[in-house]
Formats: sequence, C-alpha cells, structure tokens
Amino acid sequence: MNSFNDFGLAEPILRALTEEKYVTPTPIQAQTIPLLLAKRDVIGIAQTGTGKTAAFALPILHHLAANRVRPQPKTCRVLVLSPTRELSGQILDSFRAYGRHLRIHSALAIGGVSMGAQVRSLLNGLDVLVATPGRLLDLIQSNALRLSGVEVFVLDEADRMLDMGFIRDIRKIVAKLPAQRQTLMFSATMPEDIAELGRQMLKDPAKVSVTPQATTVERIAQRIVHVDRASKPKMLSDLIQQEKVDRVLVFTRTKHGADKVVRGLNKDGISAEAIHGNKSQNQRERVLKDFRDGRVRTLVATDIAARGIDVEGISHVINFDLPNIPESYVHRIGRTARAGADGIAISLCSHDELPFLRDIEKLIRMAIPATGTASQPRPGARPPQQQDRNGRGHGRPGQQQRNAKSRDGGRNERGGQRNGQNRGHGRNDQHGQQPDRQSRHQVPHSAPSQGPRPIASTQPVGSDFAKVSFMQPR
Ligand code: AMP
Repeated sequence: MNSFNDFGLAEPILRALTEEKYVTPTPIQAQTIPLLLAKRDVIGIAQTGTGKTAAFALPILHHLAANRVRPQPKTCRVLVLSPTRELSGQILDSFRAYGRHLRIHSALAIGGVSMGAQVRSLLNGLDVLVATPGRLLDLIQSNALRLSGVEVFVLDEADRMLDMGFIRDIRKIVAKLPAQRQTLMFSATMPEDIAELGRQMLKDPAKVSVTPQATTVERIAQRIVHVDRASKPKMLSDLIQQEKVDRVLVFTRTKHGADKVVRGLNKDGISAEAIHGNKSQNQRERVLKDFRDGRVRTLVATDIAARGIDVEGISHVINFDLPNIPESYVHRIGRTARAGADGIAISLCSHDELPFLRDIEKLIRMAIPATGTASQPRPGARPPQQQDRNGRGHGRPGQQQRNAKSRDGGRNERGGQRNGQNRGHGRNDQHGQQPDRQSRHQVPHSAPSQGPRPIASTQPVGSDFAKVSFMQPR
C-alpha cells in the first residue's frame, strides 16, 4: 500500500490526512489498516514513533463513520487503554485530528485531574474513550461508565503497562468487556506475560511487526562518558554548555533525582524544567508546551514521564543516570533523531552503573564508544571502537538485525521478573507514586564515592560515536 487512498477509508478521513500532510502509510500502517478494516484482531509489535497510533485510529474512525449509531449513556464504543497521561492525551489528539471531519464524541479519562468533568463527558455516551487503567476502574466503580457497549478495544504499550504494575487492572477491565468485540494490542516488546495476556484477550489475532524506522534510530550518535557519580552534575552542565544543544532531554532514574538535576543546572546558570509524576497535570502540560515551543531548552524527565512525549527537534538525549532496564535505553534515545533529523545520545556512567551498561550493550549487541574516567577501571572495558560483539564494525542495519535474534529469551525472563516486582504496587496511573523507579537491579542511592576525580577528556561530539539501528524481537 503506497497511498492512503488504497485502503478504502472514508472520504472525511482521507481529507484530514491530506491536511495532516500524510502521504505514504508507514510500514505498521500498511500492514495493520487492512487487517483492522477486515475486522481481525491484531497484535502489533511496534514502538512509539512508527506511526502506530494512526495504524489503529484510522480504521477505527472508518468503522465509526460507516456504523453511525448513538452511543448509549455512560458507555463508549471504542476504548483505548494507554499507560500514561501524556500518551493518552496524544492518542486522543490523534483521533480528533484524523476524525476532525466526522462528528465523533471523544474524551480522556486519566488520573491526576478531577473526575467531575470526565463523569459529565460520559453522561451521554462516547464514541471514543482514551483512558489510563486506574482512572477507568474508578469511573466504573462510581457507576459513571459501563463497558458493555465496547465494540473495539485497544491496549497500547502493553509491555509498559506490565512495567508499571497495571496488569491486574487490565485483567479486571478485560473481564468487563463484551465477548463480541474487536481487540488490538500493541507492544514494543513481547515478554511472556504480555504474550499470555494476548492469548487470553485476542481471537485468532493477526501479528504485525515492524522495526523502528531505521532512518530514525540509525541516525542517533551514541557515546558513554565514564564519570564519578559525584562529578555528574558538573559534567552535565559542561556538556550542555559545550554541545550545540537545540533541545535536550535529560533522563534521571528517579523523580527526586530529576528535581536535583534541575537545581544543579539552575545553579550553573542553565535554565531547565523537570517533568515527572509528582508534578500536577497542569504543570506537566505547561512544561511540555514550553519545551515544544522552545521556551525551555532543557527538560529533565524520568522514564515514565517521558513516555509518549513526541517532541520534534530534540537534538540531544543525555542519560544522567543509566536506566536499569535496558529496553528503556532504546526508548530514551529514540526521543532524539525524530523526523529524519540527526540526534545525539550521551550517557553518563558511574562505576556502580556498569552492570546496567553491560545489559544495554547486550541488548543492542554492540559496545558504545566511551570517553572519560570512572572512579575505578571498568572491568573488561572495551576500547572505544565501534565494534559489534564479533569484532565487526557496525552501523550496518542488516548485521544488527541478524545479531539481534536471540533477544526474546532474555526479555521473557525479564518480563516475569518485572511483573513479580510490581505485584502489590497496585494501580499507579497517577504515576506520581513510586513507579518512576523500575528496579531490576538494586540501585544504590549513593554510590560509594571516592570523591571527585578529574575527567580525562570530553571528546567533541561526532568524533567517536556509535550509530546503530535496533531490531524488534519477534
Ligand atoms: P506514533 O508512532 O503514532 O506516535 O507516530 C509518530 C509520529 O509520526 C506522529 O507525530 C505522527 O503524527 C506521525 N505520523 C504517523 N503516520 C504518519 C504518516 N503516514 N506520514 C507522516 N507522519 C506520520
């Protein structure tokens, strides 16, 4: 399918796509749209950035346009579940953008804001409801919503739902859906718990899978800077001042850490804002808007808060802390190099984070070039050459993809572990609770510090970077 016209979508949808300047369907759209129009259940392996939202929103809107019935009071015809408030907001925006010439009643049901407006928007029934799991269950419990009228159910970012401890909520929600429905599940990875959920939820699903667009991820230049934990704030300020930064997204592992980094940057005369689960919805929206509009050039975020942020023109991603879940590294650096732009990802790695670095390099099947010094020599450190595990040069997507085959097993095992850890967290779509912490390894709060040590060098950007593309597991 080379054109949206080939799918047979309703004219008002095509008109909206023309206005959005969408010309060619992305691979996930080309595969998924015909299946959904044929009323199949679908499992899609795809990350944010591949165009997956339109892949499900367009056929759903077509279904609504072709079957115009008034939704029953306190029901919705389409239910989309997403793990975070930001992602939910973006999904709703997409439905409204592509459906702007259809008369579609849609709303958001997310935590962190009062329930009153959401209850009112449900009174007359909705075509499309985009929700986070916790708030959805609250609305059901307070008799503001029944799921008996759901015709299409979408579970987006299923693996992230698992990470965030939502799996039990999702099972509860699925149990309330009518048996007769179309179900779609999207996930960037397919750990065993998610595969199992899919088997329970979907009927004879078609599977579609795409790699993140190579043109996007391939262009990310990556570098590790080995540095003492105590020297990280200074190193971060230096990097931001030295690099040609248009817009930089800095990642920390915890909410507290994000605030601390912002204070450190401000002290060094760099204006920065934090976005994480402890901020109110209004604050988060304002900060994101300022970042989008270029009023704030440095945004410090936790993994969960950054999920779903789709801001173009992020020139740099800096990992102040390395993520303890290796897949998060891929998600994080994918925030840069959007829309065909070049992107730079720099990770500050202290000695205590070396196990995380090893996990990341195992996942991406390559060594990331390194500069700087850690407080202790890195055991078995490789020279900063761009090599894959077989000693071959990299930057060749085909090679990366072939090398990536064995990853599934590792993920399955991890999926199980994560679920276990999250059990008992209960719901947290407020994601201001604790889940910005996604522990796989125990992370020491403060690493044993030998005091600041001089940094050997900070090589200029572009001199010693790895450029890779990643392969999604099948
Ligand atoms: P998603 O993966 O759904 O978050 O989409 C990533 C970005 O790609 C969003 O900014 C979309 O507006 C954009 N997008 C999705 N499909 C297309 C398309 N066929 N042509 C151009 N842009 C697209």
